[in-house]
Formats: sequence, structure tokens, C-alpha cells
Amino acid sequence: MLSKQRKLNALHKAMLECNNCPLHKGCLQVVPGAGSASAEIMFIGEGPGKKEDQLGIPFVGAAGKFLDEMLGSIKLKREDVYIANTVKCRPPENRDPLPKEKELCWSWLVQQIKTIQPKLIVTLGRHSMELFMPDQKISEAHGKDILKDIPEIGSQNFYTLYHPAAALYNGGMRETLLKDFKRIPKILKKIGGNK
Ligand code: URA
Repeated sequence: MLSKQRKLNALHKAMLECNNCPLHKGCLQVVPGAGSASAEIMFIGEGPGKKEDQLGIPFVGAAGKFLDEMLGSIKLKREDVYIANTVKCRPPENRDPLPKEKELCWSWLVQQIKTIQPKLIVTLGRHSMELFMPDQKISEAHGKDILKDIPEIGSQNFYTLYHPAAALYNGGMRETLLKDFKRIPKILKKIGGNK
């Protein structure tokens, strides 16, 4: 059986060749995802921004720096986790990804999740949360963990957070995100992870 790492490498390679949706035409490159194939925690953001589009790596701009700091606050590095997005190509002018674009990119995310089999999926922001929990409001769901059955994935633990980019310049939201983030090790322990 192929190791998780080899499966993930093959998946990344296939994603680089994807031209399923119009976003592909406007971006410099596909940003598949990055991190450990055996991660217990998978973070899912919204979509690549300018810097991510240039480098082909998720969360490398200002929001990424903030994410790295928060990971440090719970003694993790980005190499310990896996980071992906709802769409793998940069929406023009950093606009929100459209429902159709998220739908067309969904099967890649499902394959990433099925390959890595993370104990916990941490959604970053509304777009990511809505993929799995369409009826939730992020102002109510943030900081809460939930076990949910997703048809294509099966039973999966989720934890909802505000998006680091939204929280960067909003003092109140930033405090809330920092506080919610620090609860990740406790949540992981509760659901049977190692940290
Ligand atoms: N914001 C996201 O949602 N994803 C990235 O990769 C970078 C910024």
C-alpha cells in the first residue's frame, strides 16, 4: 500500500495540472496545500492570496505569519500540521471564492482529507466553515468543536476559528482567535490525539 506521503505527493502533482474552473486562468499557479502527510491537525483556509499565488504555498503572507505565531503558541510548527484551502487557485483581486468555484474544488479537498485522515479539521473563516457546516454562523460557532458526519468523508471532528486575516486588524476578534486557538491541544486530547 502506498504511504500517506506518496499518496499526498501524487495528489499534489495531479492538482497542479487541474484546470476544472475559470480561477485557474487568472492565477499564476495552483496552491495545493503544505505540511505533514501524517498530521493530526488539518487547517483549511479560504483561498490563496497574492503571495501564496507567487510562491505556490498556502498562508505565507501576513495572515500566514500570524498563523505561524499562533501555532508557536501551542508549540507546533507548520511542518507538524497540514494546511489547505477551500479553493486552490487565487480568486482575482482576492475576492471571495464563488460557491461554484468551491464546489468545483471540493473533490480535491475531500481527497486531501481522506489521504491525511486528520483527527481534527480546523476551519479558518466563514468560507471554510460553510463547506462542512452550512447552517452555522461563525460568530456563534467559533471556539466550538463538533463531530459531524460528512457524506464523502465520514465521521470527522471539526473546530471552528475566525480567519487570521480578518482578525489581524480587529483587536476584539484577534483576542478571541488567540484564545480559541490556544484551546486546540485540549480539543485534540479530548478526541484522542497525541498533543
Ligand atoms: N488566506 C487564506 O485563506 N489562505 C491562504 O492560503 C492565505 C491567506
